[in-house]
Formats: sequence, structure tokens, C-alpha cells
Amino acid sequence: MNTSEIMGLDKEYVMQTYGRQPIALKKGRGAVVWDVEGRSYIDCVAGIAVNNLGHAHPRLVEAITRQAGKLIHTSNLYYTEEQVKLSERLAQISPHGKAFFCNSGAEANEGAIKLARKYTGKGEIITMKNSFHGRTITTITATGQEKYQKGFGPLTPGFKHVPYADVNAVAEAITTDTAAVLVEPVQGEGGVIVPPNGYLEELKKLCHEKGVLLIFDEVQTGFGRTGEMFASQTFKVAPDITTLAKAIAGGFPMGAVLASAEVGSAFQPGDHAATFGGGPLACAAALASIETIECEGLLRKSREYGKYFHDGLCQLREEHGIVEDVRGVGMMLGMELSMPCANIVNEMREKGVLVNCAADVVLRFVPPLVITREEIDTVINILDEILARISD
Ligand SMILES: *Cc1c(COP(=O)(O)O)cnc(C)c1O
Repeated sequence: MNTSEIMGLDKEYVMQTYGRQPIALKKGRGAVVWDVEGRSYIDCVAGIAVNNLGHAHPRLVEAITRQAGKLIHTSNLYYTEEQVKLSERLAQISPHGKAFFCNSGAEANEGAIKLARKYTGKGEIITMKNSFHGRTITTITATGQEKYQKGFGPLTPGFKHVPYADVNAVAEAITTDTAAVLVEPVQGEGGVIVPPNGYLEELKKLCHEKGVLLIFDEVQTGFGRTGEMFASQTFKVAPDITTLAKAIAGGFPMGAVLASAEVGSAFQPGDHAATFGGGPLACAAALASIETIECEGLLRKSREYGKYFHDGLCQLREEHGIVEDVRGVGMMLGMELSMPCANIVNEMREKGVLVNCAADVVLRFVPPLVITREEIDTVINILDEILARISD
């Protein structure tokens, strides 16, 4: 099928919930993807910070293929070696001791909210304005952006939103019924907003003093995106609960809730479940993904190449007036413009680079951690040409 045939069938048979780019992707390798017409693109979207190992990574392909030939699904009525091995691995690499597995970021946040309410016996959850936590009814309630909530009420009771990067606002919002504070260490969909120095630390201190749980939504920041395995390590602040998804299994759908043994033990048999959660295929993919990040030095690459990419973007800010700001950490980068970036996204795609737009005016770069310096140079050069023409 060609692109227009595929787009026609989508229009006819798929609920039109997405504003898609007009290309149909067929295959990928490393940081490059090809469409059905054979055009190639450098992929700075990576399935929205999911394909951290790049496309068709041989280790991941091998692990998935091998596991698929043995056992794909069992339900959680039975044990599997893959699930306990992954739980043990996550305990080794994260600040936590116990895991619950599900299938997406929204579901991970739902699980974390249930866990916080069960552990504390309290109801209120404080989240941040401009945040993003998912698309279920409870996670759009947690999400501090009205555009995601409009038309879907009634929302879940018990949520309060305060400005991001304002510890005093959190202190004022905490009551005797507050269970937890839920925050993205770096806001992703909100436009790649990096926490100011000391913010996460102060938040941790406040929560500790008030007996409130601190939940980090690391769905987007996890697995090397910010230069360490988790943003909690980049910023050296350990939360009580961490939620994960996106890159956890290198592109295979999976989510997880991590907590200390003490908090995690608030969940008793029957309290929470997911039919597909922690299935052997997803766990095998996650194990291979974590091993690849470690064996191939992808954390160091995320820091070094992330800095190289960041420097390149900063150079463009010097040269082009429409660039308002360049920010980010590791390989999670944003360029804020003084105008909506939709047209630039289109032009970049036409010139062979995939990038997406967060918060309307922020070009977000979250490429696979295996992107090469030459590929980064190409992206910067193409963006330079486009910005030069627009600034004229
Ligand atoms: C993507 C994202 C989610 C939602 O994940 P889904 O898998 O789409 O449900 C939640 N939180 C953050 C920070 C995200 O970036």
C-alpha cells in the first residue's frame, strides 16, 4: 500500500483521535526510519521517547523472537522466571525494592495513585500545572492541563493542581488528607521543562516532613533519557514511588510502578491487577533493553551526545531570533520558538528529519540514544537552513 491508500483507510476505519503526520512508516534501523515510499528520516521522536535503543536493535529483536517462541502470555495466576528476574533487575538499578507491572504510562500512574491511597489511607493527590500523566479519566484529572479534560467530566475527585517549580504552593496545598505529590521530574509534554536547582530536593524534604508520599512520573524520563537510568539519579532525589513505561521494554508495550518494600507491601492479594501486566514477552524485552543500555554505554552516550546536540541547538539560538530558549537534560531536549512550530515540523519532515512539537511552541528532540554525531549534525544543519529562511 502507498501512503495515500493507507491514509484513506485510516480515515474510514480508525477513530480520528490523532493529528498524524502524512507519512506511513515501514521499517527502521538505529535512529533512521523509512516510509512506504522508501524515503528515509532521522528519527528525533523515537516513538515519543520510547525507542531508546533505536529501531530493530539486534539484541531486542533476538530476545523478543526467542521468548515469543517459548511463551508469550501466562496471566498473573502463575509465576514466571522472566517477571521475577526483571523485578530483581529493577530493584538493582532503581531506588526501589518492589515492582508492579502493567502496560502503559497511564496505567502505571493509576496504580501509583491506588498504592498511595491504600498505603496512607488518605485521598488527596497534588499534581502540577502543565503536567501530563495519561489519558484515562483519573490520569487526565491528574494532568494539569484543561485541554485534556474538556468534555470528559465528571473527573475523579481528590486532585489539586499547583504551579510546577513552586515548593511553597505545594506546602500550602498539603492538608491532613493528602496522600501524595505526583510530579514529572522533567515535564515532557508540557514543553521539556527542566526543574530549577534544588526544586526536587525541597519537594522531597517537604513531603518527608509532612508524611506525604512523593511520586515521580518517570514514564518519559526513565531508561537513560536524562543521562542516568532514571531522572531521580540525574537529580539525586529518591522518590517513594516511581512510575515507568515508554522506553522500559525498548518499544514493546509495558508499564511499571516501583516502590520501597514497605510502601509496596500496602498492596495485598486482590488489591490490584492487570491481565497482561508483566507478561513473559514484555519482561524479556525489558531485560534485554536494560542489558543493552548498560552493555553499550548508552547512559554515557545520552549525556555526551545529548550535550553535543544541546550545544548545536544553542548555537542556532545565537543565530536565529525566533529561538526563545534551548533547554533539556541528557537526550531530552527542547527548543522554544516565538511562534507555533507545526510548520517547522512539516518542513523538517520534508527534508528527512522527524521531530515533534510539545506545548505548541517547543520543538522536542528525544532521539534514540544510539543516534550518531553525524546524524545530529545533519539535524542541526537542516534546522539551521529552515530557521534562517523563516527569520528572513
Ligand atoms: C507518555 C506519558 C504518560 C502516558 O503514557 P501512556 O503509555 O501513553 O499511557 C504519562 N506520563 C508521562 C510523563 C508521559 O510522558
